[in-house]
Amino acid sequence: MTQAKTNEAQTKVVEIPSQISVRELAQRLDISPIALIKALMSIGEMVSINQTIDYDTAAIVASELGYQVQPEALPEAETAEEETEEALPLWRRWLQEEPPEALQPRPPVVAILGHVDHGKTTLLDTIRHTNVAEREAGGITQHIGAYQIEYNGQKITFLDTPGHAAFTELRARGAKGADIVVLVVAADDGVMPQTREAIDHARAAQVPIVVAINKIDKPNARPDEVKRQLAELGLMPDEWGGDTIMVEVSAKQGIGLDELLEAILLVAEQADLKANPKGRVFGTVIDAKVEKGRGVVASLLVQNGTLRVGDVVVAGTAYGKIRAMFDHQGRRIKEAGPSTPVSVMGFHDLPKAGTLFYKVKDEKEARRIVEALKEKEKSQQTQQPTLTLEELFRRFQEGEVKELRLIVKVDVQGSLDPVVRSLEKLGEQSEIGLRILRADVGPITKDDVMLAAASKAVVIGFNVKPDSAARKTAEAEKVDIRTYRVIYELLDDVERALKGLLEPEEREVFLGEAEVLAVFPSSRFGKVAGCRVRRGVLRRGERVRVKRGTQVVYEGTIASLKRFQEDVKEVREGYECGVGIKGFKDYHVGDILICFTVERVSQA
Ligand code: GDP
Repeated sequence: MTQAKTNEAQTKVVEIPSQISVRELAQRLDISPIALIKALMSIGEMVSINQTIDYDTAAIVASELGYQVQPEALPEAETAEEETEEALPLWRRWLQEEPPEALQPRPPVVAILGHVDHGKTTLLDTIRHTNVAEREAGGITQHIGAYQIEYNGQKITFLDTPGHAAFTELRARGAKGADIVVLVVAADDGVMPQTREAIDHARAAQVPIVVAINKIDKPNARPDEVKRQLAELGLMPDEWGGDTIMVEVSAKQGIGLDELLEAILLVAEQADLKANPKGRVFGTVIDAKVEKGRGVVASLLVQNGTLRVGDVVVAGTAYGKIRAMFDHQGRRIKEAGPSTPVSVMGFHDLPKAGTLFYKVKDEKEARRIVEALKEKEKSQQTQQPTLTLEELFRRFQEGEVKELRLIVKVDVQGSLDPVVRSLEKLGEQSEIGLRILRADVGPITKDDVMLAAASKAVVIGFNVKPDSAARKTAEAEKVDIRTYRVIYELLDDVERALKGLLEPEEREVFLGEAEVLAVFPSSRFGKVAGCRVRRGVLRRGERVRVKRGTQVVYEGTIASLKRFQEDVKEVREGYECGVGIKGFKDYHVGDILICFTVERVSQA
């Protein structure tokens, strides 16, 4: 009846782990990656060669190709109930999943950015010293990459990490983890390249900016000139009717700091920052190092939930059980809620700064996730796809990318306006957003590429070329640089990308329905249902709705379909079968399973 059955005599067996790259699966199935990608497309999976797919998807396509599938005997893989998808850095989704009524206000997290020597470190030090009661004994405070102050009874967390990493990368990260950026501009120096860059990064991360015009104690300070320069860049001072708060300060003499902190609290209030202290525990790794006698000491910023001593956390491929936890003043604490920076002991490896950390059930689960991730990294290391206009299309389909982001460089001022205006017009005509993160005159530089890498953008050059540093960085960071000599070609390409990016319409197509006759225990799903197909066909990998009376009690995917212990691709009307649905086990006898497929209709 099915391919697996007719080929019974020569059925080949393939072992599949919980996660596998398309390239690796093709090797195991002994077919070309292209043939496998086509087969995956036929079951509705759009993937690229280096992408990792889960067991269920791999199993479906392998059985389609006539293989008998067995889960690879990874240590503990069978007993683990959760899939490694949990390892994906999806904190944004996690936050959205928190019940709104459980959300509580949390302190703002502030990053201080600006051009070198404009006073970032001095400002951080001054705020710290005037607002943090230093420890009495010895007065030695720990530098954990962040600190928290209390001002007017409200807490503010400052990220305190400038100057000890490749600065563009760090700033990109800093701006991303923060809720507010304080942009420091020296009043005697004005807007400089890294000032512009910081603005671009903050905008790309959609983080509000408060400007601190620093060094106003200096005789050659020209604060109004700075405001004028910033206004030109689209940061209009509030006193001129704009919406950017600009505070004149002297970090060195402590002038204007109250006003700055008040401005931060005001912007924080408008941003309505919330988290669930009782929810899923996760946050960002600020920094980590190995200390003599203490092992790995990691600084973490808790963003949601409450982190406790004894918790097991995973950050990328590092994990550990928290043995001890300290606040930014080196005091031993037992728990830390949202927006709190802490330093912890217990990681087995050094977690990478900037990665997401999250709590898992136990060390066993942590090891399993880390192993799966290492496997994945190994297969991706060979060739991570460049984020090209074409690749953006795929990512858009996966919901990873919501808009087309561009960095535009042109040869002369005269062509900047027409190019930007034409691009913006294309964006307006399209359903997908188009955002120009930077538009400037000059060659494509390393900074442009770093900004593109940090914000998943494509670099467009009009009559300009990347310099050699930019080219090298683009290669390493997998950034797409496109250069054009004719404006129509440029606009054509972008238009096509926008069309490709158009969200396809979805349409449901009924396939069949089955009645649940019995319920059995299953190690993989908890429970599976013994069913008879009453109408049409049930197909593995397709969507399914569980109906009880007139109510739909669950909607998911048919992850396993068996006839007499054997995995099959589909079961037709009149036949009996076993059905496993990922994430569902509450079957009742008499439930109706409705199987359907979702067709995509492109609007292009
Ligand atoms: P960063 O590179 O942005 O972190 O800048 P620093 O904080 O290291 O400051 C650079 C220099 O500017 C140092 O010599 C500081 O003492 C000086 N500086 C910082 N803030 C002020 C200020 O408000 N007034 C004056 N006169 N000098 C300042």
